[in-house]
Amino acid sequence: MIVNKIVRVRIAPSPTGDAHVGHARTALYDYLFAKQRGGTFVLRIDDTDTARNTATSEEGVYRGLRWLGLEWDEGPDKGGAYGPYRQSERLDIYGHYVNELLASGKAYECYCTAAELEAERQAQIEAKDHPRYSGKCCNLTAEDKGHLQAEGRVPTVRLKVISGIVGFTDLVRGWIEADTSLMGDFIILKSSGIPVYNFATVIDDHLMEMTHVTRGAEHIANTFNQLLTYKALGWTAPHFAHFSIMLNEDRSKMSKRKGATFLGQYAEMGYLPEAMLNFLAFLGWSPGGTEEEIYTLEQLQKLFSLERCTVSNAVFDIKKLDWINAKWIRILSPEDLASRLVPFLRKADLLGEDVDMEFLTQVTRLIQERLPRLDEAATACTTFLREPAVPVDELRQLLGDNDAQVCISAVIDSLESVDWDEAEIEQAIRRIQEQLGWSTKVYYMFLRLAVMGSKVSPPLFSSMAVLGKEKVLSRMQRTAASLY
Ligand code: GLU
Repeated sequence: MIVNKIVRVRIAPSPTGDAHVGHARTALYDYLFAKQRGGTFVLRIDDTDTARNTATSEEGVYRGLRWLGLEWDEGPDKGGAYGPYRQSERLDIYGHYVNELLASGKAYECYCTAAELEAERQAQIEAKDHPRYSGKCCNLTAEDKGHLQAEGRVPTVRLKVISGIVGFTDLVRGWIEADTSLMGDFIILKSSGIPVYNFATVIDDHLMEMTHVTRGAEHIANTFNQLLTYKALGWTAPHFAHFSIMLNEDRSKMSKRKGATFLGQYAEMGYLPEAMLNFLAFLGWSPGGTEEEIYTLEQLQKLFSLERCTVSNAVFDIKKLDWINAKWIRILSPEDLASRLVPFLRKADLLGEDVDMEFLTQVTRLIQERLPRLDEAATACTTFLREPAVPVDELRQLLGDNDAQVCISAVIDSLESVDWDEAEIEQAIRRIQEQLGWSTKVYYMFLRLAVMGSKVSPPLFSSMAVLGKEKVLSRMQRTAASLY
């Protein structure tokens, strides 16, 4: 089924925002498919929709794909033998093929205005006919055109659609076909001289020698227009594969206006690129025959296959992403995780320019096990990086008749002579509890509040070991002072 030619696939985002998660999934599948066959992964920027394109969003696409580690082999910023890779720089090329189709009579100029087309559509709907262009301008003479131009009308160009069945074998879905008699001749070049997506894409996919065109299933309907265009130009179409539609959790269509749909947003929320990749891999594919869900990019590269891509809609289940993210956070080495936490802790004003990475790594070890996302590290780390306020009310409530002063003096005395090590700290602290006879619950909660400033914290002894003797003792003294 797969041709012998070297595989060439492309991701072709329209840069109307940052890198969209839908494009990211296609990019991942493209990347895996190309790399496992020693093929080429191309990045093309579909920027003919000039009103909505911005240079910054092109940068956003680069940043997003690179964040995931999906480096392309050819693209606008990299060059390659098939450039330019920005559609806005290929307008002459499209013009050439539009002229070729006009000259061969396979396309024609259409002078209908938007209002005329709308009126035609309404009339067809009223007559219970399938709305489509009537072909009114198909046989205009040079004289007719002259008159229409004199009225100030600027033509679009339409491709003549031959009635019949057009179809293709989708590598994910099998045979798909459509009846073109319901289509009407469609526009390939707008009156602005800019080609429509369906036309530009065919020209580029052909000239860039794409062997496989892969994308979301929302493009299946476009594929028929594209097949007709390949045919009109006398070209062989590439293989097509359409991946499952991505839906929000409420099963609404994922749109750029709804929820977090850009990679940059997920990066900011503290998701790891490894987790995002892993999650996206399963949004429309599964390896089968295993329950394992945690994979690296390299492992996915070995396992991925178009045959195992799913047809049914894929729901973007954020809880699943959270689960995968937490797993990945635990897989990272504490050193690696600590360095990834730095920007999040800086953002929360918990770190300055100079960072004691050794200390931060020790703190990271303590919080790693229960950290769901990088942005949550700020809350988990605060007590290690900033002196907490003494929770006087909570302490008073907890203490009841127990004498905090006596306890703190005893603990301080004992800790002062301890070699600062977790086991030694634990021994000293347990000994004092026996001496004082406080209930275990009150005693440990008291110490936790006194040292960590909160009832919730990583394990007390290891936290104390990481904080250091000086800080632990001074926090205890401060607590004692605040209570009297
Ligand atoms: N520019 C199109 C998009 O952003 C590309 C679709 C395709 O892959 O053909 O969805």
